[in-house]
Amino acid sequence: MSKSLQAIRGMNDILPEQTPLWRYFEATVARLLDNYGYKQIRMPIVEFTELFKRSIGEVTDIVEKEMYTFEDRNGDSLTLRPEGTAACVRAVLEHGITGGGQTQKLWYIGPMFRHERPQKGRYRQFHQIGCEVFNLDGPDIDAELIVLTWRLWGQLGIRDAVKLELNSLGTSESRGRYRVALVEYLLAHVDKLDEDSRRRLTTNPLRVLDTKNADTQAVLVGAPKMADYLDEESRTHFEGLKARLDAAGIPYVINPKLVRGLDYYSKTVFEWVTDKLGAQGTVCAGGRYDGLVEQMGGKPTTGVGFAMGIERLILLLETLEQVPQEISRQVDVYLCAFGEAAELAALALSEKVRDQLPNLRLQINAGAGSFKSQFKKADKSGALYALILGDDELAQQVIGFKPLRGQGEQQNIAFDALAAHLATCVVQG
Ligand code: ATP
Ligand code: MG
Repeated sequence: MSKSLQAIRGMNDILPEQTPLWRYFEATVARLLDNYGYKQIRMPIVEFTELFKRSIGEVTDIVEKEMYTFEDRNGDSLTLRPEGTAACVRAVLEHGITGGGQTQKLWYIGPMFRHERPQKGRYRQFHQIGCEVFNLDGPDIDAELIVLTWRLWGQLGIRDAVKLELNSLGTSESRGRYRVALVEYLLAHVDKLDEDSRRRLTTNPLRVLDTKNADTQAVLVGAPKMADYLDEESRTHFEGLKARLDAAGIPYVINPKLVRGLDYYSKTVFEWVTDKLGAQGTVCAGGRYDGLVEQMGGKPTTGVGFAMGIERLILLLETLEQVPQEISRQVDVYLCAFGEAAELAALALSEKVRDQLPNLRLQINAGAGSFKSQFKKADKSGALYALILGDDELAQQVIGFKPLRGQGEQQNIAFDALAAHLATCVVQG
């Protein structure tokens, strides 16, 4: 195929054999979030570039080198969203739905775009499901977000493969004091820092903490710890969160180097990580961003949220063989009809059956074909039963009912009795 007709590197088609797993995953998360009282919000995929610069921060990896930014025909600078929080904050502000201290518990799903080096678990178009909660400032809601993801891992069968890492970045005051101490320490060892970290010393010193450079990591061993700089408010909040996680029986490890890539976090930060996916091990990450709404021009409004990477979680389900078998079967019954008269009768009959059984997954053969070829298609469809209608059956107003997966004998069912019969063997709920 010529180059121009290929998908863009790092942007993937999700093929029909993969979509059942995606839909199972998405439906599981959506049901869970419904049950915890979260409401879905849908934002545009493109926003003004300024939005991301102001919220994510100019000196983050995302804004510095990962955004898909372009000018539209009006000369406005637009960007394909690299994450969901910024647009969500913009939306709640624009529509005034967090005004007057109104609480919002929101979730979103959709594609995100970052110009990164594509590899397993890291793509240029990827998908997230995220939650954002506004105007609740206690640790109870931070705990709820973590508890509900823990429940999700349980429902998906991946709980044993993920680990919760937790840290507190404190209020902006305590973070400010810590930043001064950290910079002072790092400046004293500046000759041993890698180039990136040296640059970050002046732009975003906390990010030095999550360097991958071994020499810099060695320097960090003796660096001041955020935990020693937490003020009373931050400490109480963090203790409250830990107490709730203990009460819910959720194991965690405190990772003092967990700082997260975005500028806007405060107090709680957390990541769910797995060692089953190689380097791309973070499957869900989030934290509190109490200053973000104000920074974006709103009234003081606290926020806390997370985003999970759908591709990584799908990979994890596959790696751990936690893909439920039944999700790939999308057909209950496959109807084979032979000859024009039988086809007409089959169509009328199947529409009647659909009226009576709206949940029945009935696939009717298209494209005619011999007995053998239709039967092959019935089998390949994954259906549990085949229905067979030829001239003989038509004359008697019956249809052949044949179990395809070895549950019972073939029999003839009267047209009028078909829906009732199917209801007993395939339709649940
Ligand atoms: P990483 O450190 O892996 O780059 P991040 O800190 O940039 O992750 P976030 O912005 O917190 O990631 O996004 C939340 C989640 O979205 C990540 O934990 C991950 O599961 C997923 N994610 C982020 N970037 C990508 C990507 N390029 N491809 C696939 N999934 C991604
Ligand atoms: Mg990243």
